[in-house]
Amino acid sequence: MIQLYIPLNFLGVIYREIKQSLTDLDKMFRLMDQQREVADAAGAAPLGGLDSPTVRFEDVHFAYETGDGNGNGSGLEPGRPVLQGIGFEIPAGKTVAVVGPSGAGKSTLARLLFRFYDIRQGRITIAGQDIRSVTQSSLRQAIGIVPQDSVLFNDTVAYNIAYGRPGATQEQVEAAARSARIHDFIAAAPKGYGTLVGERGLKLSGGEKQRVAIARTLLKNPPILIFDEATSALDSANERAIQAQLQSIAQHKTTLVIAHRLSTVVDAHQILVMDSGRIIERGTHAQLLALQGRYASMWALQQSAGAA
Ligand code: ATP
Repeated sequence: MIQLYIPLNFLGVIYREIKQSLTDLDKMFRLMDQQREVADAAGAAPLGGLDSPTVRFEDVHFAYETGDGNGNGSGLEPGRPVLQGIGFEIPAGKTVAVVGPSGAGKSTLARLLFRFYDIRQGRITIAGQDIRSVTQSSLRQAIGIVPQDSVLFNDTVAYNIAYGRPGATQEQVEAAARSARIHDFIAAAPKGYGTLVGERGLKLSGGEKQRVAIARTLLKNPPILIFDEATSALDSANERAIQAQLQSIAQHKTTLVIAHRLSTVVDAHQILVMDSGRIIERGTHAQLLALQGRYASMWALQQSAGAA
């Protein structure tokens, strides 16, 4: 009985592990699929001028290619326009925030800056270099993304943080975790930084996952940041704490914030208001309020919802 029990139980563990890693593999392959759509240009050079880079979108038009909808990659052709004539600049070390309704094209800006897709019209430059002319590895090394929903690997907490900088020492990993205010939580787990994350290990809340992602980004220390703000999931105390952390790591970095709450963009160098793939208003918070247009009504709406 015992002999039978142990192998079955063992198989159960293996099965769960395989299932979980397939989920991760699936995610990885989907990401890689997206990356396969772009290729390094012949003679592509590493991205340079990264001390304090300016990011520019110049008359960018974009449509996702549509196929059979199953991702089989057959018969792809441009679908409906998702971005139309987008132009803006994030001056070196400044923060530009993008707001607008769901589907306006905000996250697409981030995907294009990371070059998951190539644009057919217009230009995106970093420190004056067209991102299509530089190596993808150097581009991605220069950009840190804190996404809405962070992907964590089925591995130790230490691995998940060090993923931002392969070869990082334990001290560097811990320092990043302290700055992201997740160190105490990790240290309290039975195996500390050696604790496994995921189905069979440490289960992390949305906020904790995001802190791990912040620690990863702090360790990577890239000159350009993209924050894709969480739409929900976090309670407001957590939300405020994470917001404060993001703001502090964004200091002196060239940062694009995709915002879902206007309260988090008030201090941005510039706010872009998007709708249906276009920028319909732009300016500082004060300028946009004075304009009494779309932003001002979104602000009034959120203020009254917050007060309710
Ligand atoms: P949200 O606030 O809901 O995240 P968003 O402003 O970030 O929205 P995007 O994700 O940029 O919007 O999407 C812009 C448009 O592009 C949407 O109409 C969306 O349906 C479409 N879209 C997004 N990703 C793809 C894709 N991979 N293939 C085809 N269409 C897509």
